[in-house]
Amino acid sequence: MARTTLRIVIRLFLTLASAAPVYAQNHAQPPARVLGQASSNQATASQAPPSSSADISQIESEALVWLQNLIRINTTNPPGNELVAAKYLAGVLDQEGIHSETFESTPGRGFLVARLSANSMPDPSRALLLMAHLDVVGVDKTKWTTDPFGAVIQGNYLYGRGAIDDKGMLATNLAVFVALKRSGVRLNRDVIFFTESDEEAGGTAGMKFAVEKHWDKIAAGYALNEGGQVVLKNGKTQYIGVQASEKVMQNVDVIATGTSGHASIPRKDNPVAHLAAAIAKIAAYETPVQFNSVTRAFFDGLAATEDEDTGKWIRALGSPDRGDHAARWVSDANPTWNAMLRDTISPTMLQAGIRQNVIPSEARGVLNIRLLPGNQLDPLIAKLQQLVNDPQVRFETETAGGESAPSSSLTSDLYTSIIHTAGRTFPGAPVLPYMSTFTTDSWPLRMRNVQAYGLLPFPLTDEDVARMHADNERIPVDSFRKGVEFLYGIVTDFAVAK
Ligand SMILES: [Zn+2]
Repeated sequence: MARTTLRIVIRLFLTLASAAPVYAQNHAQPPARVLGQASSNQATASQAPPSSSADISQIESEALVWLQNLIRINTTNPPGNELVAAKYLAGVLDQEGIHSETFESTPGRGFLVARLSANSMPDPSRALLLMAHLDVVGVDKTKWTTDPFGAVIQGNYLYGRGAIDDKGMLATNLAVFVALKRSGVRLNRDVIFFTESDEEAGGTAGMKFAVEKHWDKIAAGYALNEGGQVVLKNGKTQYIGVQASEKVMQNVDVIATGTSGHASIPRKDNPVAHLAAAIAKIAAYETPVQFNSVTRAFFDGLAATEDEDTGKWIRALGSPDRGDHAARWVSDANPTWNAMLRDTISPTMLQAGIRQNVIPSEARGVLNIRLLPGNQLDPLIAKLQQLVNDPQVRFETETAGGESAPSSSLTSDLYTSIIHTAGRTFPGAPVLPYMSTFTTDSWPLRMRNVQAYGLLPFPLTDEDVARMHADNERIPVDSFRKGVEFLYGIVTDFAVAK
């Protein structure tokens, strides 16, 4: 009799809500004009003559077309095939008279880089790197209301995989880079346009390849990448979160072993039961609250932007008498805040059994752990081992997803430029340093002493942010235009000679 293998795989997808509810923003541009521009399939790259002050409104419209064309090039990772999109970008740059270079890591993958030089002698320590990744995560086409790779505009929204993450930022970087070139301004530092493959799957074919094999092409003292957010609340910008640090991901396997046998004779050492008990204890465990300079400054600034009650509890974080209660209140109020306050452990996979009537000899689970930068995994595993307190259960560490990097400076010239520009673009909204709970391609730069900052320069609603990596990803057209204006302001403030 044929024996089929029955494997039970349970995946728990834990989705964290974004930091705060946000609302649509007032437009600076009438949508009708935007839509007229966006209906063209071809970039209108060479229409604007170089001038002393770039026409930012014109470049916003061109950038929207570039974004549409980038979305229409399917770079789902795996397999990625990102160099098709890189070739498109090289064409746009070429029309502007900008030379670019493409480097291949594996067939069809790698990165593209281009440079606007300040003078004949490059000074990498002063250079600014504008970066964004080319790949996108996969889609479940049946759940989308439009073609995920159609870049359809409906109302004020451009729909498509990558509209926010990260082709929106990529098209914005391109717009700023092209506008600088057209304007003919004198730069006080090199500005490097860089776009890489494989961000969504560890970066081996992208960021790691670029950093390890071609560092001279991207060496810079400063970088702007994804990773932050412009948060809107009650119709106005609540704050601009600038990512200056990120947590470190580490997967750990939990393995229970026991004696295999006939399911009609239950056994006390059944590994399925032991694994389930271990996972339940781990899920209920709360790691201690810890602050670093970035999260301390974030919560200090956040308190002033929240309602009275929330602000009161945020201010009480870390206080000797009310700190514990405050941490509980703040953690319960917002899952992202909770994840910024501590190491977190999310059980994400369970796997056990080969048939309904066989007690297996092994059951396995996966814990997705996010450590605060600087924290070590070993003491946490030791704590979990002690908590589970079961000789049948052991822990095995998978390859690390990244390394713990130092935070970027909160007093650098680039950070100051971000604050200046935010004051003009989003008057009244504070810039808050941000530690992302997720990883980006910025950590390998921070390891090399680059002052790297994460933006997502587009004012977005809570609902729009939640569509990243999900169904019906979209970006409001007016927010996209505002993001181009914001990034252009930062880069000119920082890199144009005065
Ligand atoms: Zn991304």
